[in-house]
Amino acid sequence: MPKKVDTPSIQKYNRRHFVQISAQGLVGVGIGSFAVSNLSLIGCATENASKKVFGACHHDCPDTCSWEIETQSGQVVSFKGSPSNPYTAGKLCNKMDHFDSEVVFSPHRLLKPLKRVGAKGQAEFKEVSWEEAISDVAKRINTITSEKGGEAILPFSYGGNEGMVQGKAGRSFFKHIGASNLERTICGDAAVAGIEAVNGQSTGIMPEDIVHSRYIVLWGTNTLYSNQHLWPYIEKARAAGAKLVVIDPFVSATAETADVHIQPFPGTDTALALGMINIILSEGLQDQEYIDNYTSGFEELKTHVQKYTPQYVSEITGLEITAIEAFAREYATSKPALIRILIGMEHQSNGSSAFRTIGMLPALTGAWKDLGGGLMHMAYELFGQSLNYSIFDLPEEVSGKKVRSINMVELGKALTDKEMAPSVDALFVYNANPAVTIPNQNLVLAGLKREDLFTVVIEHFMTDTAMYADYVFPATTPFENWDLFTSWATPYININQPAIPPLGAAKPNTEFFRLLAREMGFTEDYLYLEDKSIVQSMLNSDHPYLEGITFDSLEKSGWARLKVPNEWRPHAAGNFNTPSKKCLLYNPDVQPALPDYIAVTQSETDKKSYPLRLLSIKSTRYFLNSSHANITTLRDLEGQPMLDIHELDAKNYGIADGDEVKVFNQRGEVFLKARIKNKVKKGVVCMPQGYWNSLMPKSSSANALTHDLLTDMGGGAAIQDTMVNVMKLA
Ligand code: SF4
Repeated sequence: MPKKVDTPSIQKYNRRHFVQISAQGLVGVGIGSFAVSNLSLIGCATENASKKVFGACHHDCPDTCSWEIETQSGQVVSFKGSPSNPYTAGKLCNKMDHFDSEVVFSPHRLLKPLKRVGAKGQAEFKEVSWEEAISDVAKRINTITSEKGGEAILPFSYGGNEGMVQGKAGRSFFKHIGASNLERTICGDAAVAGIEAVNGQSTGIMPEDIVHSRYIVLWGTNTLYSNQHLWPYIEKARAAGAKLVVIDPFVSATAETADVHIQPFPGTDTALALGMINIILSEGLQDQEYIDNYTSGFEELKTHVQKYTPQYVSEITGLEITAIEAFAREYATSKPALIRILIGMEHQSNGSSAFRTIGMLPALTGAWKDLGGGLMHMAYELFGQSLNYSIFDLPEEVSGKKVRSINMVELGKALTDKEMAPSVDALFVYNANPAVTIPNQNLVLAGLKREDLFTVVIEHFMTDTAMYADYVFPATTPFENWDLFTSWATPYININQPAIPPLGAAKPNTEFFRLLAREMGFTEDYLYLEDKSIVQSMLNSDHPYLEGITFDSLEKSGWARLKVPNEWRPHAAGNFNTPSKKCLLYNPDVQPALPDYIAVTQSETDKKSYPLRLLSIKSTRYFLNSSHANITTLRDLEGQPMLDIHELDAKNYGIADGDEVKVFNQRGEVFLKARIKNKVKKGVVCMPQGYWNSLMPKSSSANALTHDLLTDMGGGAAIQDTMVNVMKLA
C-alpha cells in the first residue's frame, strides 16, 4: 500500500490509494496536476458580485431535491437544499449534504483527459490534451465503423445523471452513427411493464397526498433511506392515525419503524398479492360497484386466484396463514388505503408479475375513490406528456435506422460473446459504472479487459469502470453545467443553472459529443444543440401542466410543481390509460393473460451446492447506487458491508457474529463479515449493493454473485434470483 503519491508523467490511479491518502489527511499531496489540491483556488474568480443560482440533485432517487448555491467573486460560499420547495423542505440528504466538498471540489476529481498507458484495468494513465484525445477517439471510431459498421459501437449510460441535458447526452450522436441501441432497462422497467399491463400507465397518486392515507403499505421500499423526503408526510399521516405496514424480506430501517412488518421469502410477492385477492373476493370484501364500472376480466381473475389459498400462499411465502388473512382483510376494509410500491420486489424473474398483481388491488377494493387511496408509484409520465421534446427529433432516415439492441443487464455477455456479429469493439460509458452495478460482474470485467475493446469513459472519478478505459474524459458536475430535472416520482420540475465555470479541463457530457462530432466532420445541426437552448426549448410548451412555468420563471424560482390538481384522485372514476379506460384484471394482450407465481428453478446439483437465496439490496444510507462509495467520509459512516445470515443457518455453518466468511457460487465469490441479527429468514442471506469492487477484499462486490437473468417483462434485472453458498474463513 503506497504512502505517498508521486507525480511522474504516468500516474497510477488506485482507489485504495486515494482512500488511504485521504484518511491520512494528505489530501492533494502530489496529485495537484490532475486534481484539485487547494479549494481556495477554485472558482476562477471572474465575477466580483455575489449571485444565487438554482439547481437540483442529479441522482437516480425519487426525491429530486432542489438546491441553491451562492457564489461570491466566482467562489461557492453556500450550498443547501432549497427552503422554498416544500418537498425538499431545506434538506438534502446524508449522501448529498457535502456534495460541494466531497465531489465538486474533491481532491480526487478527474480534471484532465487521460490516456491509458498500462494494461487494461491497471489504471495507469498519462494526461493528454482534449485535442489529442478527441482526435484519437474519432480515428478509432471511424476505423471501427468503416470496417464493421456502427453496431460495433455500444453506448452505455444510465442514471448517474438524470438530467434532460447531461443525462440524455450522446443519444443523437449514437443514432447518427448507427451504433447499437442500449436497452436501459435494469431498473424500473419491469415494474412499469407490470403496472401498465393493468392500468395502462404507472402514475398513481402524488406523494404529498399520502397525508390523507390511513392505511399505508410500503411494499418493497426502504423509504427511510431511499425516499427520505416522503417520510415526513408518512409521519404526518401516522400522527393522524394511519397504520404503517412494511413488506420486505429484509428487516430494513423502515421495517423496524412500522406497525406491522410482513417478511415474505424473496421473490414471493406475486403469490402474496394473488392470495390477498383470493381472500378479499372469497370474503366479499371487494367494491363490486367499482369493479363493475371500471374494470374488465373480473370473472377470469376470480376463478384464477382460487388456487392461491391461504395455506398455499403460506407455503410459498413462509408467512403465517393468520398474518396473510389479517393483512388482506385490513387492507380491504381500511380507508383510505394506499400501497406505495418501489423497486424492491422488481429484481426477480417474477418481478413484473408482482407489480401487475399488486396493481389490481386498489381497483378491487375501490381504494382509488378515496383521497390518499390507491397506488403510489411513478410520476415521470406527467413530464412526458407536458414537456416539449421536439428539440430531440431526428430526421426519419436517422431515427428510423434499424439497429440491434443490447440489454444493459447482459453487458458481460455482449462483451464476451465470440459469436456476436459484429462484435462490440468500442464502448462509451458515461453516467454509469457498470463494473460495479451490472450483474455477473466477473463476466463484465472479462469483457472490459479485452485488449481489442476500445473503451471511453466520461467521469468525475477514477471508477472501477474507468480503470479499464483507453481514454477517460473529465465530466462537469451540476455545479458547472446547464440542465433540466424532471422527477420520476414527484410532480416537481427544476432548472439547473451553472454556478461556476467548469473546473480544470472538465466539460459537460454534451460538449464531449459536440467535439467528437466536429472532429468526425459531421455537419448536422441536431449534433450541436446548445445546453441552455435544450432547457429553453423543452419548457416551450402550452400543456396545462406547465401553465405559468417557463424558462424565465424557473430562472427566478428554481423549481415549480406541475399544475396537476393538488388533491388528485386519478382513477376515482376509472379513466385508466387503456383502450377501454378500464383496469385490465385480465389482459389478453399480455402473456400470460393473468399473472401467476413462478418459483426459481434450480438443478438438483445446484440445490445442494448453492442452497441459500441471496438478497443484494440498496440498504446503504450514504451511497446512491455506486455513487459516493469512493468517498472516505461516507464510507467510514457507512461502515464495512456485512452478510446478514439467520442464526439457524449460521449455526449450521459454524459461523459466529463477526466471523469472516466467503459467499460464493458459479459466478464468483465475495468476502465479508457475518452479522447474525436475524434480519433475514432462514435460507436467505443478504448483502448491500453499491460498494466498489476495488475497495472490497479481493476486489469483488455483490454483483460478482448475481445472475444476469432478465425479468418476466420489461427487460429488468432478476438479480435477486441468485443462489449462493457460504463458508467460514479460517
Ligand atoms: S440523493 Fe435523493 S434525497 Fe439525496 S439530495 Fe439527491 S434527490 Fe435528495
